[in-house]
Amino acid sequence: MTASRIWIKHPLAIFTANDQDASGGLVTENGTIVELLAAGQSPSTPVDSTFDAREHVILPGLINTHHHFYQTLTRAWAPVVNQPLFPWLKTLYPVWARLTPDRLALASKVALAELLLSGCTTAADHHYLFPGGLENAIDVQVDAVRELGMRAMLTRGSMSLGEADGGLPPQHTVQAAEEILADSERLIGRYHERGAGAQIQIALAPCSPFSVTPEIMRASAALAEHHDVRLHTHLAETLDEEAFCRQRFGLRTVDYLDSVGWLSERTWLAHGIHFNDDEIERLGAAGTGICHCPSSNMRLASGICPTVALEAAGAPVGLGVDGSASNDASNLILEARQALYIQRLRYGAEQITPERVLGWTTRGSAHLLGRDDVGELAVGKQADLALFKLDELRFSGSHDPVSALLLCGADRADRVMVGGRWRVIDGQVEGLDIAGLIADHSQAARELIAG
Ligand SMILES: [Zn+2]
Repeated sequence: MTASRIWIKHPLAIFTANDQDASGGLVTENGTIVELLAAGQSPSTPVDSTFDAREHVILPGLINTHHHFYQTLTRAWAPVVNQPLFPWLKTLYPVWARLTPDRLALASKVALAELLLSGCTTAADHHYLFPGGLENAIDVQVDAVRELGMRAMLTRGSMSLGEADGGLPPQHTVQAAEEILADSERLIGRYHERGAGAQIQIALAPCSPFSVTPEIMRASAALAEHHDVRLHTHLAETLDEEAFCRQRFGLRTVDYLDSVGWLSERTWLAHGIHFNDDEIERLGAAGTGICHCPSSNMRLASGICPTVALEAAGAPVGLGVDGSASNDASNLILEARQALYIQRLRYGAEQITPERVLGWTTRGSAHLLGRDDVGELAVGKQADLALFKLDELRFSGSHDPVSALLLCGADRADRVMVGGRWRVIDGQVEGLDIAGLIADHSQAARELIAG
């Protein structure tokens, strides 16, 4: 944070996510936006410094609402490259069970740095692996987030339904309900910040219908209600999952969600693909959020999220890159491009505009995380900004700068500000030795696979 007034001046283009005119730029002070300037306007009182943004397209800092940071260690792993969700998971579980605190720290730093360089300022992670020795997984992630200077919603995931009881994960990767709930409560008490400008927040996130018991779903919902924190899980990702729910619970996925007390605006769901019309209406009426994960859904051939129908019904829609074993990049601006294209296949070109998709990636994602202090450029919002230059070959000859970001394939921000502090300058993360990180992380990835 900085006390000085900075005028980020005369941008090439600016997308505020709320239709306000800010073509004269904006003024930040004490970590927040204090003025939006229309064309020709100047700041109302003198500023301490100016940043000339005439070569930059300015976006609100992008917000990622679903990831599994640890999966950066298992990208493009040959045994699962061509598998759909269930066999993909069953092959990967035993590898992931070898995660250690050091490996998770490196994986989290890599995922966060990648996100940050793609213009992301707030990241959610869904961590549900707590093998012996990794009981403090979320604490490890908190340290990584603080080091990178981003904001995060770290969700305390869980798995409690092992193979022996009819679940999908191996028995040694699941935890007892008491252990899960005690750690959830500890993390909320220790780390969850409330109110505008929060850096670290905690949510509760049983993994999926096929890896947790209904009891842990109900207990997590009660705990979330008691502490006023959010709820997150995977739902309606594949037809295999739907078949599992029918067979085990005698219910479709949304009925199951409802039966455990999760159909509410406190909840946001990853994927949300296989819904019928009635389920879409119920999700909308409840205000349950949906995180669209286009690359992962294409890679695992899971299906296409009905984003427009969900929005029309009242369900907020945001965006997520998903874990790096199914994307395999943590690049949020490229994910917006993927969303634009896959959603056009479903809904046509006229309805799926670059502005709509950027809206999902900013304001929509903020809504999923229960935040109204980030995700748009307006007076009083946090000074979280992503600035892109259009000076690469791929942009040469482009006309509309905001459309060009997605259509020409922008993949890297030139500057990123979080709470008034520049965290990326000239395409480099401040204070981070990327070459050293790649060397250490690659080594950790090789050791994890070797066992
Ligand atoms: Zn996921």
